[in-house]
Amino acid sequence: MRLTKFTDLALRAVMRLAVFEGDEQPTTREVAEAMGVPATHMAKAVTRLQRLGVLEARRGRGGGLALTALGRGASVGWLVRELEGSGEVAACEGEAPCPLRAACRLRSALRDAQGAFYAALDPLTVADLVSSPTGPVLVGLVGRRPS
Ligand code: SF4
Repeated sequence: MRLTKFTDLALRAVMRLAVFEGDEQPTTREVAEAMGVPATHMAKAVTRLQRLGVLEARRGRGGGLALTALGRGASVGWLVRELEGSGEVAACEGEAPCPLRAACRLRSALRDAQGAFYAALDPLTVADLVSSPTGPVLVGLVGRRPS
């Protein structure tokens, strides 16, 4: 199973923000720069994360992005499910439906595998993702540094 680029980018944003605490709030551009992605792509991920209640954005001078309490404690499995959507691993339905789709053992095995993939991520929280060795690397990235 492979994450979409969008999901990966959103997870990078969440991890970067998880090492900021208090009033220190980086901008979308700063998060994008630190995580090595285009600011326009990051802006789309930030919008989606806001809608999920994972982060909040303050406008104006001194404004920026911050994880919400929900975001910091969110299950990574939940977050990845939300970002990936409910699609299946294989394209069984759609414009050219597969003729085996109603009775395919591979399809059911792939569903089980997808469930196991998410189940492995469920116990992890966003805060867990930034414990060592990841946290210190995130803190040292370019752009505004967490204080
Ligand atoms: S072979 Fe099975 S898993 Fe593959 S597309 Fe067809 S129904 Fe889906």
